[in-house]
Amino acid sequence: MSDNKEVITCPACGNYMQKIFMPEAGVNIDICLEGCGGILFDNREFQKFDEPHEKIDEILEAIKDKTFIKVDESETRTCPLCNVPMVKMGAGSAGVQIDVCNVCGAKFLDNGELQKIRTAGEAGEETDRLDSLMNSLYADNLKDVIGNRQVPSKTSSRRKFFEDLVYKLITK
Ligand SMILES: [Zn+2]
Ligand SMILES: [Zn+2]
Repeated sequence: MSDNKEVITCPACGNYMQKIFMPEAGVNIDICLEGCGGILFDNREFQKFDEPHEKIDEILEAIKDKTFIKVDESETRTCPLCNVPMVKMGAGSAGVQIDVCNVCGAKFLDNGELQKIRTAGEAGEETDRLDSLMNSLYADNLKDVIGNRQVPSKTSSRRKFFEDLVYKLITK
């Protein structure tokens, strides 16, 4: 879907939205800089920005030092592209509700919601990193650390690690 070139009114506060070009993703997004700070993503645009490693510098720069008006986030919004009511949907593990248009796929995020979704994703990525660290600790390279001395099986060494950890925690 090509970017809508028309000026869009914000589904939350009715102010005109401004387009920001996001060079990394190569798309324009609409952001309510003069009103509530909400962001409208066209279909498929949102997934280019919801992961912590995806850059949103231009968005952060645009909203920096701005004060946005408060809006009622529980209100039903109308898709500014197709004029139909948007539906509330949970996004990621952040406990954030975003507004989605079932006709065109546009997504509207209130001010701050994008950051919350990305932060929750970061926590998930951190857990993944720890998991893979744990795995590598008890995988073959354990041999490199302790040489050829009796290499415990992965499961038993891992269980021992956790038993030791639990022991330390409860005896503190
Ligand atoms: Zn707005
Ligand atoms: Zn729509």
